[in-house]
Amino acid sequence: MTLKKMNFGAGPAKIPEAVMEKAAREFLDYGNSGISILEMSHRSADFTAIIKEAEKLMREEMSIPNEFEVLFMQGGGTGQFAAIPMNIARGKDAADYAVTGTWSDKAAKEAEKYINVHKVFTPTKPYVTIPEYSGWERKKDAAYLYYCANETVHGIEYHTRPETHPDVPLVADISSNFLSRPFDFTGHGIVFGGTQKNLGAAGLTVALVRKDLIGHENRHCPSILSYKEMHANNSVYNTPSVYGIYITKLVLEWIRDGGGVEKLFATNQEKSRLVYDIIDSSAGFFSCPVEAAHRSHMNVPFRIGGGDEALEASFLKGAAERGMVGLKGHRAVGGIRASIYNAVTLDETKALVDYMNEFEAANR
Ligand code: PMP
Repeated sequence: MTLKKMNFGAGPAKIPEAVMEKAAREFLDYGNSGISILEMSHRSADFTAIIKEAEKLMREEMSIPNEFEVLFMQGGGTGQFAAIPMNIARGKDAADYAVTGTWSDKAAKEAEKYINVHKVFTPTKPYVTIPEYSGWERKKDAAYLYYCANETVHGIEYHTRPETHPDVPLVADISSNFLSRPFDFTGHGIVFGGTQKNLGAAGLTVALVRKDLIGHENRHCPSILSYKEMHANNSVYNTPSVYGIYITKLVLEWIRDGGGVEKLFATNQEKSRLVYDIIDSSAGFFSCPVEAAHRSHMNVPFRIGGGDEALEASFLKGAAERGMVGLKGHRAVGGIRASIYNAVTLDETKALVDYMNEFEAANR
């Protein structure tokens, strides 16, 4: 294979080399079928085996409790922002939302079309923290309590699950930390995410939905966003993201063969510690605004020289010359963002940190 660049992009993001190589080998002729997966019926025996295996691996690698169904959907994380209130309002007129950054804010705005949104705290801007759970004003009769487990833009991650009333299921958006760490399902009703960061290609959304929350969709809910329809049809209600499901299956095999999610979590902690350490030891040359207790293991946003845009442009230019791409910060926060998802190796992270050291020494 040609030498690839080091990809620190936020998503679609790096896919493990072993997965890309296997997909390339199988691309033209899948399993001696004489055709590509891209050309294959979603009702064929070959694809049925792939989707079944993807579900089985997902359950095993994530230790998904039996009371959850695994649904392979489309419409992205954004589709779920609407699907959630449409499916699980269950006659209640309000839902609780914890707004901690761009993605939970977007989810709350979308939900407002379908349900009254009650924010459990006033969003504190700029987004740099998660308020103490004990201060959240939760409603006992809320349909659910929504949170974003990892805010991709702002680099804020929940390291413990939020507290909730026993009758109010938690809904978690794990788009950007899917299978990057063990997940505690306690109290959760829906756990969902797009696959384009940690689990493969864009075009597939995985929704893990507790069985008792299936079958309550409102009459306007489109069939493709209905948990009931998707479940009743084994996620093949219509043509699913055939290739996306195949790639996710390969990524799940890669996770299994690499030692599973615990192993990934250990490496992810080590990778993020390396990056935060150099930020924190740079006496302000690099700065990350997120409070230490809530920093993400996946997305590390930082500024250089207190937000010196010329210096940041020069950093990005030097990074590109060293084969590092995808480091430009999201337009909402500017600066730099290093996304160090599962597929980004420890060596690649070390290469980034070495470059940060070098850049600091030359420009401080
Ligand atoms: N949630 C989070 C945490 C995200 O990072 C993103 C995409 N970056 C989304 C939701 C939206 O996902 P999609 O683009 O698949 O709709």
